[in-house]
Amino acid sequence: MASVGRPIPAVTPDMAGFFEGARRGQLMVEKCDHCGALRFPAHDLCAKCLGRGATWVPVSGRGEIYSFNIMHQVYHPAFAAEVPYAVIVVKLEEGPKMISNLVGIKPHEIRIGMPVEVTFERGGEDLMIPKFRPRAR
Ligand SMILES: [Zn+2]
Repeated sequence: MASVGRPIPAVTPDMAGFFEGARRGQLMVEKCDHCGALRFPAHDLCAKCLGRGATWVPVSGRGEIYSFNIMHQVYHPAFAAEVPYAVIVVKLEEGPKMISNLVGIKPHEIRIGMPVEVTFERGGEDLMIPKFRPRAR
């Protein structure tokens, strides 16, 4: 059977700052240029003040599991060896929520509120993908 390449995120212009940060080992969110509200993912308008314009800023990379789902089905052949794996919603310490994967733990050990920290995995020649792993409180 031919190996199947993993799908990788499209680095669109509005998300370029996020992936540039990831290459440096920094987790990034957008900060509204008008009111300072943090948001993720990139968006044209601020949900708080409706202002346009934002700047990518680094955050701590720490947060907690807000929600999670365990994938038991093989939805893409490139991930067949990893089933079951966890898709999580992380609530960052700074506020924004982010969808990612949780690594370094068995899926049945995952709990809501579990503290996590970012880790970066290579997703391609010039692409680092932020994921999360458990951390001590
Ligand atoms: Zn704003």
